[in-house]
Amino acid sequence: MIPYGRHHIDNDDIEAVIAALKSDSLTGGAWVGQFEEDLARFTSARNAVVCNSGTAALHLALMALDIGAGDVIVVPSLTFLATANAGIYVGADVKFADVDPETGLLTSETLNAALRELPAERVKAVLPVHLNGAMSDVRSTSLPSGMGHVAIVEDACHAIGGTYSGSDILVGSAPWAAMTCFSFHPVKTIAMGEGGAITTESDDLAERLRLLRNHGMERDAARFVMPDQGVDSVGKPFPWFYEMATVGYNYRASDLHCALGTSQLKKAPGFLARRRELACRYNDLIGELAPIVKPVPRSAPDGDGWHLFSVHIDFHAVGKPREQVMQELRERGIGSQVHYLPVHRQPFYQQKYGKQHLPGADSYYQKQLSLPLFPAMEDTDVDRVLEALAQVLNLRAVV
Ligand SMILES: *Cc1c(COP(=O)(O)O)cnc(C)c1O
Repeated sequence: MIPYGRHHIDNDDIEAVIAALKSDSLTGGAWVGQFEEDLARFTSARNAVVCNSGTAALHLALMALDIGAGDVIVVPSLTFLATANAGIYVGADVKFADVDPETGLLTSETLNAALRELPAERVKAVLPVHLNGAMSDVRSTSLPSGMGHVAIVEDACHAIGGTYSGSDILVGSAPWAAMTCFSFHPVKTIAMGEGGAITTESDDLAERLRLLRNHGMERDAARFVMPDQGVDSVGKPFPWFYEMATVGYNYRASDLHCALGTSQLKKAPGFLARRRELACRYNDLIGELAPIVKPVPRSAPDGDGWHLFSVHIDFHAVGKPREQVMQELRERGIGSQVHYLPVHRQPFYQQKYGKQHLPGADSYYQKQLSLPLFPAMEDTDVDRVLEALAQVLNLRAVV
């Protein structure tokens, strides 16, 4: 069976975790700082703050910006649940923006259409999602005038290692982004088991993120709100003392997870190069299946994070519903997946905000299928996938 995605673990990854297991600390130790340092270097970011999931990263980012009740965040509807749910966690409202029906990405046009329906002062953040690994070109310059206060918080869970089109700026270090969130769930480019991170150019935000991932516990006496409670008569802080001025969470990542992340990150360039090679092979061969099957267009394949190899299929023209195509692929040993049901259609959000009309997201969803893409795939696996797809769709065999 060729799954649609899969982590890749080598002996050195296993050894890194064993080393962490044998060390003095299983959490809160040296691996956490090591991973953060390596990740900051890899993304060219000034700060990287690791946490225990991509979802926690998004939640922390919104908390760090003090977003809450009465505020609105704008999220493309074509994304994983977590991008929107982070807004709900902080008590904000979520405004779903439409996406380009071909790329699935939030664009300046779809963003501005969503913003026109909102009072400018309530909007606090926009969360572009680099869907499939393709970079959304929404930047602070995409915002209309009078919205200079709106923060760009990127969901880069699909895009580590990607660069913005028309530049060599790495995702995670964009000067226009307040923060960039990553996931290291095993299906993503590198695996921590569960894990995530936020990168930011702002030292203040990084500081706040670290506080919030650890209950809001402040141990630095210089920042105590009630210093008289925490220090002795000569101003020396009590060894047991900490203050909590803001409520935070336990969103820490353990040393075991960070050891794995550190080891995996060393291989990220190789993983990414292999993903790009495989995507190239798909692109070279998939023309044979046109116009029934078309790869989702990528504006800059060389800078793409290539998380998913997404195609659009005209299931209507083939006369086979998507679930049957997936089933018949599965019978031929090929996994596939759909990314994603637009989040505005989820019962929770429909109940909260009513039925919404986002034709771009709906159109993308109707025709989308993710084909297998992961670094351990062989070139011949790509051929097998396309051969099986050609058979299932009754198209001429490609290879
Ligand atoms: C995976 C993912 C997340 C959440 O990451 P977890 O680590 O699974 O919590 C958020 N957004 C997108 C786009 C994702 O793909």
